[in-house]
Amino acid sequence: MATSRIRKAMADIEAGTVAAQIVGTLSRNGGMSAAQIARLTGLARSTVSTAVAKLKQSRVVVEVERMALEGAGRPGTLLALNPLAGTCVGVHLADREVQFVVADMSHTFIAERRFVVGADYDPEQALAIVKAAFEEFYEANGLSRQSLLGAGISVSGPVGRNGVLQRGGILPKWAGLNIKILFSSVFEAPILVDNESNCAALAELKWGAARGFPDFVMFKMDLGVGGAIVNNGHVITGVSGGAGEFGHVSINPEGELCRCGNRGCLELYASFVKPIEQLTRVHRKPMTIESAIALAETGDAGAIRMIADVAEYGGRGLAMVGTILNPPHFIIGGRLALAGEMLFAPMRKSYERHTLIKAQDGMPTTFGLGKFTENDSLLGAVALVLDNHQALVAT
Ligand SMILES: [Zn+2]
Repeated sequence: MATSRIRKAMADIEAGTVAAQIVGTLSRNGGMSAAQIARLTGLARSTVSTAVAKLKQSRVVVEVERMALEGAGRPGTLLALNPLAGTCVGVHLADREVQFVVADMSHTFIAERRFVVGADYDPEQALAIVKAAFEEFYEANGLSRQSLLGAGISVSGPVGRNGVLQRGGILPKWAGLNIKILFSSVFEAPILVDNESNCAALAELKWGAARGFPDFVMFKMDLGVGGAIVNNGHVITGVSGGAGEFGHVSINPEGELCRCGNRGCLELYASFVKPIEQLTRVHRKPMTIESAIALAETGDAGAIRMIADVAEYGGRGLAMVGTILNPPHFIIGGRLALAGEMLFAPMRKSYERHTLIKAQDGMPTTFGLGKFTENDSLLGAVALVLDNHQALVAT
């Protein structure tokens, strides 16, 4: 069948460095022009043209409408990997839910779903859900499970390079487990695992608000506080996957006990857990981040105050990051970012007050809103596969 023919062709061209470079570039970036490929790979235009012609002949590379990939803008065609060249799966082991998505090699997302599982779910439960979703989605969309090139798994908490979750956090039953080995019972393809904020940063870098920003810091504000440091297009993970855990910088050594075991972590002050408790008490009805933002938008003084308070602490946390790294750009993600200027205005003010390099010094750090506040970690799990595709084909 077509898929296996293409996979064989891709394996064959793996021996040819130029073709492999082009396949890798298209996998990481999606649709591109030949000129863009030449610029990114550093190959001569003529070399790219010759190799692309061969790749098109073997149907590894196809021409797609620019409009289809970019939504709008200039007409014309772009080169992309043939969607039939393979599929990838993204899984996000989130707080109280498991998210699942299927995408193809042309960066098209085919199907996505969330499964609510409740707090503190165990690996057996998640594995059963993912296995059923994998079978159902591939069947429903006429996809062969043999076309799977890799599965990316995004997980809350630091993950070592071996795939072991170093600390439980919101998934206490998973602490110390090797996520790669666990999911090898579901996926007969390479499995890539990373921390949820690192995945979120990858999604923003590839498709979202960080396109064109190879150096930035992702700062997520939600029921937890997390982040990622991206340097020259690569997420800095640290030796055990713990880099960018901004929420667990202690800002008050005598403060309350945090779920991580330290005291007075930034997350206790800059996440929306306590504001939700307070708003729920005052309004005598269960509140969520979304309903609190909606309430603030109607002018409710209490909800506005709660957002401003977390913005003050968030800005203080960002100021520490800013003083250490002096990044050109911050991307603010997490559902609290949906509060817009109600969050951003006091946060920028707090940042400016606490950081070393002020706006008046010139070249200030800019702030942007994440594009995928709802599913950035899930999309980033797919990005993990697309970024490592060259290695996957060779395996
Ligand atoms: Zn902590």
